[in-house]
Amino acid sequence: MPDFDMTIGGERVAGRESFDVVNPATGQVFAAAPDCSDADLERAVSAARTAFAQWRTDERGRREAMREAAARIESHARDLATLLTKEQGKPVREAMGEVLQASEWLRHYADMESPTEVLADSAHARIELSRRPLGPVAAITPWNAPVGLAFWKLAPALRAGNTVVLKPSPYTPLTTLRIGELLADVFPPGVLNVISGRDPLGAKLSSHPAIRKVSFTGSTASGRKVAIAAAEDLKRVTLELGGNDPAIVLEDADVETAAAGIFGSAMTNVGQICVAVKRTYVARAVYDDMLAALSERAKSVRLGNGLDEGVTHGPLNNRPQLDRVTDLVASAVDAGARVVAGGATVEGPGYFHAPTILTDVTDEMPIVSEEQFGPALPVLPYDDLDDVVARVNASPFGLGSSVWTGDVERGGDIARRIEAGTTWVNCHLYLLPSLPFGGVKWSGLGVENGVWGLHEFTDMHVLHQNLLPGNAWS
Ligand code: NAD
Repeated sequence: MPDFDMTIGGERVAGRESFDVVNPATGQVFAAAPDCSDADLERAVSAARTAFAQWRTDERGRREAMREAAARIESHARDLATLLTKEQGKPVREAMGEVLQASEWLRHYADMESPTEVLADSAHARIELSRRPLGPVAAITPWNAPVGLAFWKLAPALRAGNTVVLKPSPYTPLTTLRIGELLADVFPPGVLNVISGRDPLGAKLSSHPAIRKVSFTGSTASGRKVAIAAAEDLKRVTLELGGNDPAIVLEDADVETAAAGIFGSAMTNVGQICVAVKRTYVARAVYDDMLAALSERAKSVRLGNGLDEGVTHGPLNNRPQLDRVTDLVASAVDAGARVVAGGATVEGPGYFHAPTILTDVTDEMPIVSEEQFGPALPVLPYDDLDDVVARVNASPFGLGSSVWTGDVERGGDIARRIEAGTTWVNCHLYLLPSLPFGGVKWSGLGVENGVWGLHEFTDMHVLHQNLLPGNAWS
């Protein structure tokens, strides 16, 4: 089995214990990852703390190291993508896109300016606002897009002058560990530490007193625990959590375009995307056509091992997630839902579930009201637009959302009424390093990306120079 090490203080650390990593396309263990001990966690945090003193002062060095890191990742992109497919399951072409996203985000933030702002400059006072890094920060990532989401955190954190301890999900630690090894001589020792372990390691890291911020992406349940742990000593937190994104299809939408866009964003990575379409509300006039168009697409996917040529959709990442999706579909069917495409797991090895389209569903069924995070899309008709906006907003989640229409102005008017971090009109899942991304309600706290994402890794400092003789009150 190939070896994977943690990177702590610039050194490769094998760890005393390890845990197995399974290839979801085969269901077989294919590698092991180090299980970080308490002592190694202490070393990682201490290395990040020591490195912070110098790293925060060297803005030019930070930009250069980030550009070098981007190039290093690119030059190993093929191997990294293959590894990502083996541990995560997505088709290798998508894995390649995710790996290259790391370089894109690094370059974007390396080029980003964050100048000191002059708030007042008069005969009375000069007041300026600057942004300061926080110190050692924790970055904790889920298993659906471990590389891309890691760099949504690392790039702004490092650019702002913080040092990082990064912990990937135990289901998908390997590509992140490999990237840590590859970048060990790009950043000064201790600037980027990568450790691996099970969920309790995340809890220990997020409650560690030397960690000044936790940037967390994962489930709402774990995000709550992170917030509670961080509250103890008022660490900063950014929480990117679950979603239950609605798509609303108006009666004037082009059915084929809407079906292509909705199916694509609902089923990419077999639905394991926080901001995938997870429930679709369709105007009664075009409901039958939409259902048919979505079903046709579901029936035409090529499900298989993401390493194989021509495969369009891979397995779910892990057994519990496969079981969850299977149970949600079964419980919907028991309650009266009808399967129009897919509907079942695939016999044989691996964690495969056919892309599934469901009709005759209600808002009360868990497949609609909860986050399925898998390839099962409920499609519901509506008659009244105000009513559907209310139903959409009744969810405790508020991550993404979309409106599909032939009239973008009208789409914009409806979009403004939706409670979500982002509402797209005639697209979904369109993410850029320059745009803020985050959720409202149970979907999160704070944002990632853009200058707003950079600022989340800083505290503000106001410098107020009084230019009048005496003080302001004399
Ligand atoms: P998860 O919450 O189980 O795990 C995420 C990470 O947190 C893992 O590294 C895990 O080891 C760690 N962790 C678990 N318990 C912890 C604790 N108490 N303290 C600190 N860390 C802890 O989530 P998952 O199952 O890996 O990912 C799927 C979820 O992530 C879905 O709900 C999905 O919507 C969400 N997600 C959100 C976004 C977003 O940007 N909003 C992006 C991707 C995924």
